[in-house]
Amino acid sequence: MDIHEYQAKQLLSKFGVNVPPGEVVYQTHEAENILSWLNEDQIVVKAQVHAGGRGKAGGVKVCKGDDEVVKTVDKMIGMNIVTPQTTESGKTVRRVYLEKAYNIKKEFYFCITVDRETGGNTIVYSKKGGVNIEEIAEKTPKEIHKLKISPGGDLLTHHARTIVYNLGLSGKTAKGAQKNILSIYKAFTSLDAALIEINPFAIVENDEIVMLDCKASFDDNALYRQRQVAEMKDENEYDPLELEAARHDLNYVKLDGNIGLMVNGAGLSMATMDIIKYYGGEAANFMDVAGAATPERVAAAFKLIYRDSDVKGILINIFGGMMRCNDIAEGLVNASKEVGLNKPLVVRLEGTNVEMGMEILKNSGFPIKPVETMEEAAQKVVELVKK
Ligand code: ADP
Ligand code: MG
Repeated sequence: MDIHEYQAKQLLSKFGVNVPPGEVVYQTHEAENILSWLNEDQIVVKAQVHAGGRGKAGGVKVCKGDDEVVKTVDKMIGMNIVTPQTTESGKTVRRVYLEKAYNIKKEFYFCITVDRETGGNTIVYSKKGGVNIEEIAEKTPKEIHKLKISPGGDLLTHHARTIVYNLGLSGKTAKGAQKNILSIYKAFTSLDAALIEINPFAIVENDEIVMLDCKASFDDNALYRQRQVAEMKDENEYDPLELEAARHDLNYVKLDGNIGLMVNGAGLSMATMDIIKYYGGEAANFMDVAGAATPERVAAAFKLIYRDSDVKGILINIFGGMMRCNDIAEGLVNASKEVGLNKPLVVRLEGTNVEMGMEILKNSGFPIKPVETMEEAAQKVVELVKK
């Protein structure tokens, strides 16, 4: 789960990370009170959307004087922002953040992420911050440092000192940076984060080090024990179908094709997507009903896929291990009744009571095509959506 920049700053400041004073605004009139509270000469107005690259897209504006701030807030709220990290249609700005604007001396890049190779955390950092890090990685990879923390290990003071040294810091700035880095790492592990990316981490006028931008993502599986993080979820940032799927504990991702898929197990889902592609089709989604494919969850998943107007045909590929195929078939027929099925539906079931399941589908009275193999299923659904 992702959160907004201002929320990440709120969380990290509780761990002692140095963040600018600031406040979020949902409506223009709220800005005035906040300005008198902040009482700064210069304020930066920042669009809050789950995407980076806002600066170049007009989503970060340094303003002088209250009038300019209020005007900028008014313009930014409701604005559509398109950055390299949004889709082409962009995102609507519903919240903006007002924070103290600093005179920046230097910008660094600092990021903690979970490393799939080592199973531990990795810290990536660079002297060249503020800009597009992917570009630095490509053009001058030597400028990017990595520190791998062993699984179960911790970030120790000497690690932090190495980082600070490699960033070329000394004196007061080095001390401040070291303290901040240890705090960020503590926040990362305590909050079950999957990513905390600070770009830029900046040295400002009086040699203070301040976190000026922050992107944070969290492990969904740990949200049950991270209430303060879970409550930060901004539903406007998600696809409505994805939200509904999360409520039913389904793994659903919207894709660009026109064949709706429902499969149990991530491996079988991947294989099904591959075979669809092999026969010239494109999946409209990734839907893994995972674990126990109970008739209720199958029905909920089916209705979700069906509601997607991009879906021209559906393929269901389920292995009924613990669940019996006849129960799954019944769940599907009931869901077909509810939606008044009129899109092609190809079903391949395998496992316990598969014959009974197939009989139920054949006799349902709906245009359901039961098939026996994955090849047949993929070929059939690709053919039907092309009609
Ligand atoms: P994004 O990464 O989405 O473009 P940032 O928060 O990194 O957004 O802002 C873009 C740039 O704006 C930063 O690299 C920094 O130079 C400047 N900036 C951001 N916040 C401040 C601030 N509080 N004071 C001064 N400059 C800022
Ligand atoms: Mg940034």
